Amino acid sequence: MRTYIVLLGPPGAGKGTQAKLIAEKLGLAHISSGDIFRENLKAQTELGQKAQGYMNRGELVPDDLTIAMIQDRLSRPDCEGGALLDGFPRTAEQANALSKMLLELGGKVKVVPCILVPAEVLIERLGGRWSCRAAGHVFHIKYNPPKVAGVCDMDGSELYQREDDKSETVARRIQVYEAQTAPLIDFYKKQNLLVEVDGTQEIHLVTEQILAAIAKAG
Ligand code: ADP
Ligand code: ADP
Repeated sequence: MRTYIVLLGPPGAGKGTQAKLIAEKLGLAHISSGDIFRENLKAQTELGQKAQGYMNRGELVPDDLTIAMIQDRLSRPDCEGGALLDGFPRTAEQANALSKMLLELGGKVKVVPCILVPAEVLIERLGGRWSCRAAGHVFHIKYNPPKVAGVCDMDGSELYQREDDKSETVARRIQVYEAQTAPLIDFYKKQNLLVEVDGTQEIHLVTEQILAAIAKAG
């Protein structure tokens, strides 16, 4: 059976940071909906152009576009062993669509680690986040600084601050999370898949807790 893991949590909780570490460790494909949207934006594809306004406002890209994008991504050969989903699903409609897609692919969600961090910490994290242009590796000016300022430790590409990490947009993204994504906590609790993880701990401790939750899920 393919292993699908959904990482849940508000913007800035550490999903991307953890997903990169865990996907590598477990040899799973890392699927970040935000990264795929940003790649499409950079390449100015039709999808990128459609998504741009929503992303800049800190709102969700419509479900039909997002679901079609993830369905296409999950059908690629590198997902044959399963995948680690980071940033998808973010609405009830996306979560239902995911269950259906995985059934067709002969798998299901195995566990949903939810990284919990209070709003004031999220604001500080996103305000100090620097992301790499090449592959979306993330750093923090104070909590996870790169060895050389402005340069990605992993691939040497330039680090930049995301347009949607400015404070007004961060506030909107947190509101959108509360209204549209937080209800998924209950959705996955009811299926006995949710494991809450304290995201205020150091990065390596959060990784350990998530790995333990995955191991326990079998
Ligand atoms: P998300 O993908 O959930 O939005 P990121 O992984 O991009 O979150 O992390 C947001 C910011 O917080 C980044 O600058 C990252 O370096 C930093 N960060 C991630 N995890 C931790 C942690 N456990 N402690 C302190 N800072 C963290
Ligand atoms: P963060 O790391 O802060 O959680 P992401 O990189 O995951 O942010 O997402 C950036 C933006 O991309 C979101 O604010 C939203 O506009 C869009 N986006 C990403 N994933 C989804 C999704 N599953 N549904 C709708 N929009 C999404």
